[in-house]
Amino acid sequence: MDRKRELASNLAAVRERIAAACSAASRDPSSVTLIAVTKTYPASDVALLIELGVVDIGENRDQEAAPKAAEVVGARWHFIGQLQRNKAKSVVTYAHMVHSVDSVALAHELGRQAVQRRQSSLDVLIQVSLDRESGRGGASPEDLQAIADELGTFELLKLRGLMAVAPLGEDPRAAFERLNRYSTMFRADYPDATVLSAGMSEDLDMAIACGATHVRIGSALLGKRSALR
Ligand SMILES: *Cc1c(COP(=O)(O)O)cnc(C)c1O
Repeated sequence: MDRKRELASNLAAVRERIAAACSAASRDPSSVTLIAVTKTYPASDVALLIELGVVDIGENRDQEAAPKAAEVVGARWHFIGQLQRNKAKSVVTYAHMVHSVDSVALAHELGRQAVQRRQSSLDVLIQVSLDRESGRGGASPEDLQAIADELGTFELLKLRGLMAVAPLGEDPRAAFERLNRYSTMFRADYPDATVLSAGMSEDLDMAIACGATHVRIGSALLGKRSALR
């Protein structure tokens, strides 16, 4: 099977899972944005996904995302990985949304670089840790407000909501229920922060049940990655 047909068939299966999860949760499927996570896969796959109607593309490393963003036209790039402060300068030049702001210092640097390098606003999410170990990144729930306030000092940064990764070794449902509560509390203070980025290939169904508005899907669309990334 050629690559485009393979991607089309994977895409149909993922869209079906999203529709089923939405139906089970009495949600409209149009309330869930599919982000194709293309890390480790070539720019040619990104171009094929765009032809198939998927324009929201996720990457987790600037070293890989920046050259792909320069090569492919028509994608909306979502930066979803842990972001080092010295990469903010590059990421603000191509990102449509940064999902992984997890400290006041990073919020500040992103704002500073956006002011210098962008005309249009940049959507940002704060990544919240769903476990105390935080091996998968993210801010503690107690720190959300301080980060949000720092983001708020930059007119170009638009705080759109929260992002999280389900912790390893825990039922993702329980973790996503926690995330849903954080999101509800957060929206009481920041009513425009309506985005909830949660759910990957393994757990997208549970994330949608718990209110995810953006799912980040890699292997179910593109195939299993060889490296653990
Ligand atoms: C790789 C990655 C994904 C996609 O994971 P899959 O299990 O391949 O769907 C989602 N979110 C983040 C932050 C990732 O790094």
